[in-house]
This record gives sequence, C-alpha cells and structure tokens, in this order.
Amino acid sequence: MSSSISTILFILHPSSFILFSDEMSQYLRPNIRAMTGYTPGEQPQGDGIIKLNTNENPYPPSQRALEAMAEILRTDRLRKYPDPLGTAFRKSAGNLFGVDPDGILIGNGSDDVLTILTRAFVPDGGLVVSPTPSYLLYATLAEIQGARFEGVPYTRDWQLPMPWPKPNANLTLVANPNSPTGTMVANAALESLAKELRGPLIIDEAYVDFADSHAIALTRLPNVVVTRTLSKSYSLAGLRFGFAIAAPALVREFVKVKDSYNCDALSLAGAQAALEDQDHLRQTRAKILATRARMTKDLRTLGFEVLPSQANFVWATRADRPVKRIFEELKQRKILVRYMLYAGHGDGLRISVGSDAEVDRLLEELKKLV
Ligand SMILES: *Cc1c(COP(=O)(O)O)cnc(C)c1O
Repeated sequence: MSSSISTILFILHPSSFILFSDEMSQYLRPNIRAMTGYTPGEQPQGDGIIKLNTNENPYPPSQRALEAMAEILRTDRLRKYPDPLGTAFRKSAGNLFGVDPDGILIGNGSDDVLTILTRAFVPDGGLVVSPTPSYLLYATLAEIQGARFEGVPYTRDWQLPMPWPKPNANLTLVANPNSPTGTMVANAALESLAKELRGPLIIDEAYVDFADSHAIALTRLPNVVVTRTLSKSYSLAGLRFGFAIAAPALVREFVKVKDSYNCDALSLAGAQAALEDQDHLRQTRAKILATRARMTKDLRTLGFEVLPSQANFVWATRADRPVKRIFEELKQRKILVRYMLYAGHGDGLRISVGSDAEVDRLLEELKKLV
C-alpha cells in the first residue's frame, strides 16, 4: 500500500513538488501524531463583540511605542535584518529592571520564549512539571518536545505544596500570577521551591504588572528564569513580544536555541519604547485594578465565587451549578469569556478585565441570567 500511486498525488509546481498523502503521517514523530495541540482562545472577526476571553488589554498601547514603530516604517529599516539579540531593547530593559542586559532573552511573544526554554532544558523523554490548574500550553510544549508532563495540584488555598513532590523534573513552570485563578504565591515560596529543585524553575510573569510584587530578584539564583510579555499589561498582544530574565551564562545558551531573527525590527522598536513609557503602564494598570475590584464585588453579589485576583482577569465559579450554560448564553449575547473545565476542580469562567463600559454590559447580562 505504501507505494500505491493512487494514494499519492504529486502536484508539479514551477520549481518544486508537493507530496500529498494520508500516509505521510507515518513519517511524523509519534509524539506529534499523538498530541491534540494547544487551542488558543477564540479570536472572532465580527464587530460588536465584547471580548473578555484572552486577557487582552482594553486600553490602547503607549503612543510612544506606536511612534517608534512608525519611525521604522518611515525609514529604511525593514529592508535589513533586525538585530538578532535586540541589543537596544536589552539595554533598556536591563536599565528598567536593574539587571545585566546580557541576562535578557528576547522572544516573539513569551510563548516563543517558553518554547526556547523547553527546547534548551528538556531532553527527549524528559519530565516537565507545573502546579495545576494552570496555563495549558506547558503540557503542549512538553508533548512537542517528546517529554512527559505532570501536574502537581495547588493546595486548597492556591499555594505550592511543600515539600515539592517532583524535585527531579527537567523543567518546572509556575505561572505567577496563575491563570485561570489569578492567585499568586509569595517570593519566599518560589525561592524555597527553586532551592528544592534539581532542575530549572521558570516563573511565568505574564500578568505580574497587575500584581503587588514580582520575582526578578530571584533570577540571582542560578536555576531561576523569569518570563514576561508585552501582550497584556502593555496592550501589545498583536505585536508578539516577550522576554526572559536569567543569569547571563544561561541566556548565552538560550540564544543558541532560538531562531536568529525571532523578533522583527518593528516589534523590537515598539517593545523598547513601550517599556520606556512606564507612565502609560501605570495609568492603564490603575484603571484595570479599579475595574477588577468593582467586577469582583459585583460578580460576588450575583452569586459567583471569585478568587481575589492579582491579574487582569477574574476566575468566577458557582457552587450551585455548572457555568457552561452561562458561558453559552453570554456568547449568544456577543459577550465572549473563557470557559474552562479542569478535572477535579469543576468548571469556571475566566473573565478578562475589560473597559468599564464592557464590564457594565457583562454585569447587566449576568443579572438577567442568574
Ligand atoms: C498570555 C500568556 C502568555 C503568553 O503571552 P504571549 O502573548 O505569547 O507573550 C504566557 N503565559 C501565560 C500564563 C499567559 O497567560
């Protein structure tokens, strides 16, 4: 059967041919064939949708970032390759965070950074561990790498179980603040974890700009990597820029793994200017924290259980019923939130903190629904 012409179709193209066959899948690595793949949150195209499902920032990005990118377009910069290391960005970020610029790794979104770290640390057949429930991409990264993923359940009050039961993982990831819960573990707990581990610890700080503290100081430990993104707090999800902070000796190794030009000239310029505009970050952050507080209070009044959030979303569950139907009814009313069902935890709605007008609409519809 494998040589059967009938199942193989060659399409001749000016300079190449493409092979189509349902039997091609036999050449794929077994772990790729076995995996389902990560499902990102929906990105509907239509107008008039209130989108509270992927934690995008409702406010516009820094004007200075937009101008820096416009400057790239006005000049000759897209004709040439970008700086592979992002030297100017690293210098600026190093300044802002008080770290060595050589300890900063640039990425095409922090998902790219997480991919680079997984490829650098995790061997074939290795073990990736994270507390659960958390960011589902971690398991997908392990599967792509041909590694096993194991979740360690958070304690009932959303802390890390200590002693940590899986100290031998090739890579341990902690989203802090966590998604979907919005909860956080203190730096002291992360530091104990890092010291118990016999492998690296990644602290994924995608949401940390909405929190009360961060863990950059822990990158002085040799096995700690902190990752950041401009997608959420800097309103630049469409730009695709993230970065990691770690010991310079580690970052030199990560650079070997990444695509040479993983960040383009536009995103590098935009990201640098966005980071340099801390006033803008402070202003949008203040608005989001105020809306988050109001949302939390009003959702509780409507009978939801809402964990105190340190992120730009809240995790809303109900003791009296599953929330699937509420999710669907909201969707019919053009309000999109993220529905999640975790084994052993029941289901819940992860609702991004939108603008005040968006949150008003959400609460108005929920009032009718519950
Ligand atoms: C959104 C998110 C990221 C990825 O952000 P990028 O858009 O790829 O920079 C990483 N980790 C967590 C926990 C997230 O929620």
